[in-house]
Amino acid sequence: MASPVLRTKARPTIHEFDLIRALHRRHGHRTPSVIQGIGDDAAIIASRAGQWTVLTTDLLTEGVHFDLRTATMADIGFRAAAANLSDIAAMGGTPQHLLVALAIPRTGTSRHVHQLYRGMMTACRPHHVELIGGDTSASSGKWFLSMTLIGRVPSRKALFRSGARIGDLLYVTGTIGDSLAGLRLLNEAPYRAKRHPRTVALSTRHRQFLIGRHLRPTARVAEGQWLSTHRFATATIDISDGLSGDLRHICEESHVGADLDLGALPLSPACHAYAASRKLDPVDLALTGGEDYELLFTVAPRQRPRLEQSALKQGFSLTCIGKIHPLRFGVQALSPHGRRHRLVNTSYKHFT
Ligand code: ADP
Ligand code: MG
Repeated sequence: MASPVLRTKARPTIHEFDLIRALHRRHGHRTPSVIQGIGDDAAIIASRAGQWTVLTTDLLTEGVHFDLRTATMADIGFRAAAANLSDIAAMGGTPQHLLVALAIPRTGTSRHVHQLYRGMMTACRPHHVELIGGDTSASSGKWFLSMTLIGRVPSRKALFRSGARIGDLLYVTGTIGDSLAGLRLLNEAPYRAKRHPRTVALSTRHRQFLIGRHLRPTARVAEGQWLSTHRFATATIDISDGLSGDLRHICEESHVGADLDLGALPLSPACHAYAASRKLDPVDLALTGGEDYELLFTVAPRQRPRLEQSALKQGFSLTCIGKIHPLRFGVQALSPHGRRHRLVNTSYKHFT
């Protein structure tokens, strides 16, 4: 239940029902699996035999997860959708249906909302995800955006964090560290002249690439399905908190240790250039940077030739970055200079 009019003191009105009608018109197309979409008390979807339902939800708060000074409403919608798509990808699933709950502050207009949905649906469209419902409320403070994404996976083909075995190889898709570099670029922009008087200039191309990787990340949905279909992966997670933290999740859930080869981490030329320009170690960006939404997964060593051949054929970019060890080994990293150390967990923490 929400009030029909989202009142603001000075200037009423986003009319909730008009807004919902407009959202329905723009984004509420239906396929046969949607028995009831937007417009009733709840949505109904038909589920197929032999399939499991995969569900994920995310709550994003203005000021914590996004900043309207550095991202457009469309960017925020896109990134929120990509994060949810990535969760389904990490389970090997096919995303299908989307629910969105929204709290709109006094300063929010229906134009903002439509931009938000435009970004969201831009991320969803390639995967044919349909908006089937949501909820709308006024907020006395910030924007709140909650998304719930529903998908499917053939039964017994889901990928978990818990299947890694001693001797398995550790792989990652794409490149890592870009999103953190992009976020830092966005945050430093207004103060750059003052705070970084001697920073080396970064080319516009690299800058745009990194900011794009932060604001418009790609969820590796096809890669996740491929890992599941061929039963390549023994354990999978998406990199949302940072490589060091997410690797730790796989290790904890699988009761194993891991050895990470830092010299092998896939770093983009733009990430290298950014790190050089700010006198940072790009490996630190890769280890700590979350929100790359790449997949981190483990593969039995005998699968290696098949995996790599198939990836090549599919055009997927994968890099082997380490190996699974017994639990007592802990999580260690080998530096490019051949020094070994225990990996400290430096990934993003929400409540510290
Ligand atoms: P109720 O009072 O039963 O919660 P609502 O008026 O909130 O009903 O919702 C009516 C319909 O509009 C439902 O199908 C709901 O899922 C959909 N809906 C409401 N808000 C949104 C939104 N922000 N995005 C998408 N669909 C929405
Ligand atoms: Mg409602």
